[in-house]
Amino acid sequence: MSKRFHFLLRVEGMTCDGCARHVTAALKKTDGVEDAQVSSWRSGLATVIATAKETEEDLIKALQGAGYRAVVQERRELEEGRRAPKAEGAEYDLMIIGGGSAAFAAAIKGAELGAKVAIVEGSTIGGTCVNIGCVPSKTLIKAAELCYRSAYPKFEGLTACPPPSDWQRVIEQKDELVSALRQGKYVNVMEVYPNITLIRGWAKLTGGRNVVVNGTNHTPGRIIIATGSHPWAPPIPGLEEAGFLDSTDALSLPELPSSLLVIGAGAIGLELGQLFNRFGVHVMVLEGGPNVAGGEEPEIGQALTRYLADEKLRVCTDVKIKRVERTNGEYQVHAQINGTDEVCTGQQLLIATGRRPNTSGFGLEEAGVKLGKRGEITVSEHLQTANPYIFAAGDCLGDPMYVYVAAYAGGIAAENALTAAGRIYDLSALPHVIFTDPQVASVGFSEKQARERGYKVKTAVLHLKDVPRSLAARDTRGLIKLVAEEDTGRLLGAHVLADEAGEVIQEGVLAVRFGLTIKDIVETFHPYLTMVEGLKLAALTFEKEVAKLSCCAT
Ligand SMILES: Cc1cc2nc3c(=O)[nH]c(=O)nc-3n(C[C@H](O)[C@H](O)[C@H](O)COP(=O)(O)OP(=O)(O)OC[C@H]3O[C@@H](n4cnc5c(N)ncnc54)[C@H](O)[C@@H]3O)c2cc1C
Repeated sequence: MSKRFHFLLRVEGMTCDGCARHVTAALKKTDGVEDAQVSSWRSGLATVIATAKETEEDLIKALQGAGYRAVVQERRELEEGRRAPKAEGAEYDLMIIGGGSAAFAAAIKGAELGAKVAIVEGSTIGGTCVNIGCVPSKTLIKAAELCYRSAYPKFEGLTACPPPSDWQRVIEQKDELVSALRQGKYVNVMEVYPNITLIRGWAKLTGGRNVVVNGTNHTPGRIIIATGSHPWAPPIPGLEEAGFLDSTDALSLPELPSSLLVIGAGAIGLELGQLFNRFGVHVMVLEGGPNVAGGEEPEIGQALTRYLADEKLRVCTDVKIKRVERTNGEYQVHAQINGTDEVCTGQQLLIATGRRPNTSGFGLEEAGVKLGKRGEITVSEHLQTANPYIFAAGDCLGDPMYVYVAAYAGGIAAENALTAAGRIYDLSALPHVIFTDPQVASVGFSEKQARERGYKVKTAVLHLKDVPRSLAARDTRGLIKLVAEEDTGRLLGAHVLADEAGEVIQEGVLAVRFGLTIKDIVETFHPYLTMVEGLKLAALTFEKEVAKLSCCAT
């Protein structure tokens, strides 16, 4: 199988559509070039697929001869044998329904494989992460943290919240960042791949591999469903009549409420609850389960609850919600808390009880795609649905719903759909982060999960008061829990509650993924006065009492 290369060229001197055609023709005439495209003369970018790496120099010479200056901005060897066969008679080899992160990963993979790809997006390009999810929430969380830390540079003994700052300006800055990232990471990216077409409109499947958009019928070679998810609210009596905020509404509130009730203490409920609390809103979080951050180690949920309480954020667990009312502009949540009936009041009510896949109303059933109990698309380990022409990726597959999972799935779905590569969708060693302060980050099994799977386990818990970095930063909130196999010492899970736990966890991810042991971690250098040194100290805790060790303990 011959090698193939993908070049991205920046071409100077194009001033009109005619120039773009001229450049394309010059590139296509160059020896060894299989395909060449210019997205538009304005972008100044051209992509080339060629059979030899040396073609790079010939491409530049060819453009010089045609009166243009060019530099190679990117070069990549395409995987051998991974060439998408052309779908006979089809306008597109691959059509992706949805224009979020899963879709973009799928489209780029398809384009790199030489396929002609269409993305169909009915709403805002970029989907959830950049527009209404990760990006807006994390920038607002950081703003709240800065505001809070500047008011309270020393963390212990926090007593009150700072006064509300300029919320409207913060929202404007958030919107500016969202627009810039949407442009940079989605809109501009499309220009780099001329063989990706964006079709604006809502897609409907009509059976087989037929898709209708804006009244036009398309029959692409393969289809990927990447339609994302929407916020889900439980059937609480009175809730629908009263109305409520979901995460999208909360992240764009024109002004801060004086008080906020949050139902649900998962990642989104906790992140947004703390964010608003730190902007001076009186926040109360109501959770039906026994702990906040329900899937985490109980030690972590309990410690996080205490830290939130230190910030005067009231968090109640084991809450039974009976009904919701709204009178005189105020929400009343009637609930049983610790066995006592209470009426909780707030100016606003945020429902953060999870998300459900967007899988209804656009013909999946007609196309023979099967759905699970929560509306998630049922797929094989190759992400193929019950209709062999249709694959699926991202939040529409159900939990876990993270953007890096969506992007990973998009790439796999495209490769499998176009080349029958048979790549397996493997979510082992999947980390996740809750962006509270301190953050929660985990990978692998919790102690309970490991025992349920029949492992004989040993565990170690290290509190951050024994981590030099935390002492130096005067922020000893948090802990690290490691779960290891008893006989072999293999790390099965790492669970961190700490400032920037999301960074620390990555060592745990590598350790779990590559089967490393507690001994491997202990014997590896960890720079002194870093937070990740805490992971090594936690590993040492299996054998030694860390509090009694000297600095740079071994
Ligand atoms: C508040 C919040 C914070 C989050 N924070 C994080 C985080 O910090 N880290 C993280 O990893 N993840 C986070 N997530 C999750 C992450 O945003 C999602 O997992 C990810 O964006 C899903 O990508 P997707 O491509 O599957 O779907 P989406 O990005 O939702 O894209 C789906 C697109 O499909 C379109 N569509 C739907 N139906 C059709 C149709 N019939 N025709 C045409 N178009 C259609 C929709 O308009 C949408 O644009 C967060 C989510 C939320 C809500």
